[in-house]
This record gives sequence, structure tokens and C-alpha cells, in this order.
Amino acid sequence: MNHSPPPPPGSDRAYGFATRAVHAAAVPDPVTGARATPIHQSTSFVFDNAEHAASLFNLQTFGNVYSRISNPTVAVLEERIAALENGRAALACASGMAAQMTALLAILKNGDHIVAASTLYGGTVGQLGVGFGRLGIETTFVDPAKPENFAAAIRPNTRAVYGETIGNPLVNVLDIAAVADVAHAHGLPLVIDNTVASPYLCNPLDLGADIVAHSATKYIGGHGTTMGGVVVEGGRFPWDNGQFPEMTEPSAAYHGVKFYETFGDFGYTMKARMEVNRTFGAVLSPLSAWLLLQGSETLHLRMREHCRNALAVAQFLQNHPRVAWVNYPGLPDSPYHALAQKQFRAVDGRPGASGILTFGVKGGAAAGERFIDACEFLSHLANIGDAKTLVIHPASTTHRQLNDDELARAGVSADMVRLSVGIEDVEDILWDIDQTLERASV
Ligand SMILES: *Cc1c(COP(=O)(O)O)cnc(C)c1O
Repeated sequence: MNHSPPPPPGSDRAYGFATRAVHAAAVPDPVTGARATPIHQSTSFVFDNAEHAASLFNLQTFGNVYSRISNPTVAVLEERIAALENGRAALACASGMAAQMTALLAILKNGDHIVAASTLYGGTVGQLGVGFGRLGIETTFVDPAKPENFAAAIRPNTRAVYGETIGNPLVNVLDIAAVADVAHAHGLPLVIDNTVASPYLCNPLDLGADIVAHSATKYIGGHGTTMGGVVVEGGRFPWDNGQFPEMTEPSAAYHGVKFYETFGDFGYTMKARMEVNRTFGAVLSPLSAWLLLQGSETLHLRMREHCRNALAVAQFLQNHPRVAWVNYPGLPDSPYHALAQKQFRAVDGRPGASGILTFGVKGGAAAGERFIDACEFLSHLANIGDAKTLVIHPASTTHRQLNDDELARAGVSADMVRLSVGIEDVEDILWDIDQTLERASV
């Protein structure tokens, strides 16, 4: 299950990000000597004897029972992402949506309340606002630009505060430390979706967040091949503060275990594993874990290129006569540039602001749609974080269901084009955007 990544014997060295990305949690297979992590495509695992089986079921011994609870290949991914996020433990899930659902259902129940940023990924707005609403968990969405907006919405039944490091598609940057202070002043954990920044550019746990959720489908996997998600626990939240009796009282859902008392700084992850993943079943497959592990080994290299290319594209668009506006936190005149500088790792001496940017094509919605149709190698699809450059017109696709009011609240204008800048040659990306703008503006 989850342990800190084992350093080589005799070493207490604090390894850098790239070394952890390549090595954390993966040791040569003790049976075969295989250097790459094997794909343990097995649903279940043989017990040594009856006593061993009983102690596994009582959570007294760590080991594998059944792949809905844990799997050795999936465990390497979990421990690797925990290592990259400076977390204590992690749990992999079937998708990013499953990860954030698991992160929240581990601590929320019917009658509880969430305060969340209003600028979240559209799927998350649906999950919290509608999906959780049907379960009796209510969410208040607030403008995340002011941390005090989160404070004002907290109620006696609030049990979590939720935000995104970089919003999608607004590419707004959250002041994580300030929102963490608000949450902690009310005895609440801050849950951060760190998908767009990735663990390379930002570690929200170091800024005060308590739980991180990822759609590993995006930058961690990095090649647009594999769905997956990860929940990471920081290990510092005081779950015995009186607001989370399910963490401290015997679990009705699992053998009367007291998760916080028994497992301490990884009790939350154990509860999420046993009470949510095991019970609701949105687990990651070993093959998917293996593919996401492949991605994790080059995360640092790809993120640097995504940042470099996105900044070059943003600067090019800023000076383009057919472009009305550009929004990218890596631009010095972005309202989010100071927060990006404070919270994100530098790439070439400037804040690494990831690969997502938005811009407006002069000529409004029609020009935005025409832009999409005129691209040569930029791919028109609904995803981000791929090695390939991706482009979409939100108002006619992902945000189609929203009325004008809702579009305005989501910050999506009719002319907005979203780019997820890939790692191709930047000259080619600029060429395709330029020729496309030319043809879109007729
Ligand atoms: C894609 C995405 C999700 C959902 O992840 P899936 O892997 O598609 O389920 C959640 N949050 C953000 C910010 C995303 O971009």
C-alpha cells in the first residue's frame, strides 16, 4: 500500500524532482530482476495462510488482497505521485473525476456543505453542483479572486474548501496559501485540483493545502492515451478537531477501524481507499497505471517545453493584429502573474505557467469557430495536457449548454479560443496559428 518512496539503501539524500519522477517507488522486481515496473494484471493475490489472510483483512498487515483495494503496479504510481507532490500517501482512481469524487466523499456525507471556486473545470461544477447535490451535499460557488469570499460562504455544516491551482478554461491562478488560511481558521481541509499546473510546476501541499487531486489523464500521462486520477494526502490535517467524527470513530463501512487513530498521517488515504474506492469501485487498472507511470518519468521535460512554447505563443498572439486579447498567467501583464511568480517553479527564469492559454479572435464567435476549422496540425478536440497542441472553441463545444449569463460567470466569451500548447517545434505551432488566423478573419 502506501509508504514513502524508498531511497536506495543507506541513503538519506533528498532527491530532486527529475530523479523522483524517474525513480520514486520503482525498484527492480525482486523475483525477476525486471527493471521496469511489471504490469501486475491480476485481480487477486494469494495469501500465505489463514492467519495472513485474516490480518490483511483487519488491515494489520500491508499487502495485496484484491485489485479493487490495492494492486502492486497501481501502488507504484500512487507512491510516485505522492513523492512528486511532497505528500504522505496517495490513492489512484479511474479518472480525474473519480479522484476528486473520492477525495471529497472520504470526508463528506448527506447534509454537509462545500465551498468551491466558481471557475472550476466544467465537469467539476457539474459533479459538485448537480451530482453531489443529488446525494444531499450542497456546494456554494464563490469568486476565487478574493480569499475572503471563501470565508463568507462557510457554514456550520461546511466540511471542505475546494479550488484549482490554475482554473480551466479561465487560466486564473488561486492564492493557495491565503485560501488555506481561511479553511484552517474554520477547521476545514483545503482540497486543490492541481491538474493544470502538474506537480512539476506547483506543490499545493507545500503552500498549505491538505489534499491534492489530479486528473492524471492530462499532463501526468501526457500523451492523450490514458484516463486516470490520483488523490494525494499531505498528512498534516488534524482530523480529530471535532468536525470529522468518521475519521476518529469506529468505521461502520470497514470492520470498526478508527482510521485516524490507526493510520495517523495517512489515515485519510486509508479511509478513501477502504470506504470510497473499495465500496464505490472507481479504481485504476494496472495497465493504465503503467502507462501513466511512463508519462511521469518525462513530466519535468515536457512541462518545461509546454511552458516555453505557451509563453512564446502568448507573446506572438499579443502582437497579432487579428487577435483581440490574450490570457496567460505567464505574461508579465497578466493579473495573475504575481501569483504565478510566487507559487510556480521558474522555467528559464520566468514563472512556469503551464501550457493552457485563451485568446479572442477579432470577429467574435463566427471567427472563433472559423479558426478551429482552418488549423492544419493543431488538433480540434476536448482535452488538455497532451504532447500535441490542442485547440477548442468553448462557447460552441464544452460550454454549449450554458446560457449567456452562465457563460459570463464562467468567464467564457463567444470569441474565446482555448489552446493547450504542445511540445512540437514552436516555429511550426506559430506558423499554424498564423495561417489559421489569416484564413479565419476573412
Ligand atoms: C480533465 C480535468 C478533470 C477531470 O479529469 P478526467 O480524467 O477527465 O476525469 C478535472 N479537473 C481538471 C482541471 C481537468 O482538466
